[in-house]
This record gives sequence, structure tokens and C-alpha cells, in this order.
Amino acid sequence: RLILGIESSCDETGVGIVRLGPDGALELLADEVASSVEEHARFGGVVPEVASRAHLEAMVPTMRRAVEQAGIELSDVHSIAVTAGPGLAGALLVGVSAAKAYAAALGKPLYGVNHLAGHVAADTLQHGPLPQRCVALLVSGGHSQLLLIEGLADKITEIGSTVDDAAGEAYDKVARLLDLPYPGGPPIDKLAKRGNGCAIAFPRGLTGPRDSKYDFSFSGLKTSVARWVERKERAGEEVPLADVAASFQEAVADVLTAKAIRACKDLGVDTLVISGGVAANSRLSGLAAQRCAEAGIELRVPRPRLCTDNGAMIAALGAHLVAAGAEPSRMDLSTTPGLPVGTIQIV
Ligand code: ATP
Ligand code: MG
Ligand code: FE
Repeated sequence: RLILGIESSCDETGVGIVRLGPDGALELLADEVASSVEEHARFGGVVPEVASRAHLEAMVPTMRRAVEQAGIELSDVHSIAVTAGPGLAGALLVGVSAAKAYAAALGKPLYGVNHLAGHVAADTLQHGPLPQRCVALLVSGGHSQLLLIEGLADKITEIGSTVDDAAGEAYDKVARLLDLPYPGGPPIDKLAKRGNGCAIAFPRGLTGPRDSKYDFSFSGLKTSVARWVERKERAGEEVPLADVAASFQEAVADVLTAKAIRACKDLGVDTLVISGGVAANSRLSGLAAQRCAEAGIELRVPRPRLCTDNGAMIAALGAHLVAAGAEPSRMDLSTTPGLPVGTIQIV
């Protein structure tokens, strides 16, 4: 059975095609992404109207390329999955409208699914099925959450989240502060390789004895980086950019991995999945690998291409729903910009 996935929640138009085998195994056949990130770069963040317009222009060509890449006919598709939330309202609407049109024209079932659950499902394309229970650290441009996954089609429980900025948002804001391009994750990651992560002791948010065990806070860290850079500049000293980047990155990776591993231990779980755009960060995956090995936890991090937004992860989640025998969504399915992670599918 072939499952087609459509993603348009932010600034990536993605179409992915996955084959669901009789044994439940997934095979990735196509993963086409068109990004409008360059159109947003000069604004330092995604401009919703620009993103919606770009989705509208990219949707059909991206669909054509995916079908061609998979070497299938659209009529061979078994069902269509689409991101119904969370995300930008106008952007989501383009993907959901397109999915409804294809589903209606082809007479195929439609599954409106959760983008965040999709980020976790991406990992199953690379590493196979998840164990019965696992913890997922979802770190992206708009979210930082710790999740207990008891079946991708069945039960996802949020056990922690950020009280202010998302991890990716902190990367983007700190990059701006250091005059690095948007999105900030990749340039900081690169610059940090030449710096010393122990050079500056930036604060680790919410790690005090009375703080929430699984929640995150990154806005104090961002402010602290800003103040540190300002002080240097005011003193007429040169700002050691690589050290600032490395030390900021160390603070983020330290808190994320410490809390994720703590959650695994507390919940008696031996597998940790890290997904979302920030999972592409080399220090985060490096430190997680080291600490997971010490704790006897299996670490799963999908390749960078599967970490950032794509349609393949939506196809993968759709395939898990189909495999679990989930009912399709109604054809009057609506988008839900604030969809909570526990709602895996909008029926
Ligand atoms: P959400 O999934 O929460 O709706 P989003 O879809 O915009 O948000 P993603 O595409 O998953 O987010 O991730 C984008 C974020 O990942 C950006 O903030 C970007 O800076 C960050 N990012 C990408 N690569 C890296 C990296 N190597 N290191 C750190 N951050 C990175
Ligand atoms: Mg993006
Ligand atoms: Fe995303």
C-alpha cells in the first residue's frame, strides 16, 4: 500500500511517498521538498502570507516531482495523509485543500495528521518501528517538548515543554544577535566547531532543584548571550564569536540531553528519539550519543534531511495510522493551528 504525505505547516512544501509492507515495514520512495526559506531570510523569520503564497505555487510541481521520483501513478496511491496542525493557519490551509482535492479526485481516504507526531514518525523511515514505549525529544523552530510515545498511532503524552522560546527559536535569535544568517541553526553549528564550548558559562534554564524536571526555558539564555556580547562591545573588546556560538550551543545541548535522559530513567524507558530541525545539530546528537551510551539508553536520531520539515514524515505517520486500522478523516476536515501533540489525527 502506497501512502502519500503532504506537508505545508510552515515554510516547506513537502510531498513524500512511502510503501507500507504487509509486515508493517516502511519503504521511502519519494521525498520532495520546496522551501521558501530564502524569501523569509531578510525578515529574520517566516512571514505567513509569503509562506502561503509560496505553498500555493509549489504544491503541484512538488507533487509531480514526488510521483516521478517514486516511479508510480497517482492512481496507485492507497491513501493521502496531510498535516492538519499545528502550524500557520494560511499555510496549513493550502496543504489540506490540496490533499482534499487529490483525495476527492482519486477517490482515496484522507488522513489529517499532527505535524509534531510526524516529526517523530520520520525516525521510523530510517530506523524501523519504535519499541512499545519510548521517549521523544522534539526540538524544532516552534516547539521543544519531551514526549512519551506509546504507539505513534495510539498514544502520545506530553511530559514537558518550553515555558518560553523553542530551542530552534533560540538558535535563530542568537544567530541574529551575532549577525549570522537566518535560519540560525546551521551557521551557529558550523561556527561553534571552531570555538570552545566551555569558554563562557551561559545559564542552564530550569535546572535548579525546585524547577520543573522536564520543562525547558531558553529565553534567559538568549538574553544572557546578548548581555555578554554587549559588555564586550562596550569595553571595546573583540567578541570571540566562535566561543560564544560554541558556549551557547553547549548550554542548549546540555539541558536538552540531561532532561531527556532523566525522563527516560524516571519512566523506565530505554529508547530516546530526537527529532525536529534542531536534531540536525551536531553537538546535540554528539552529546546525546555520549550520555545515552553511559546510561544504557538506545539513541535514535534521523538523518538531517528527515529532521527538518518534509512530506515523507507525514506519509510515514499516515502509514502507521493505516497499519493500525485508523478511520480516515472526514472530507470536511479543518486545519487546527494550535493542535496539541496528543491529538495524533483529526477525525
Ligand atoms: P515546528 O515543527 O515546531 O512547527 P518548524 O517546522 O519551523 O517548527 P523545523 O523545520 O523542524 O521547524 O526546524 C527548523 C529549526 O531548526 C530552525 O529554528 C533552525 O534554526 C533549526 N536548525 C536547523 N538545523 C540546525 C542545526 N544544525 N543546529 C541547530 N538548529 C538547527
Ligand atoms: Mg522550516
Ligand atoms: Fe516542523
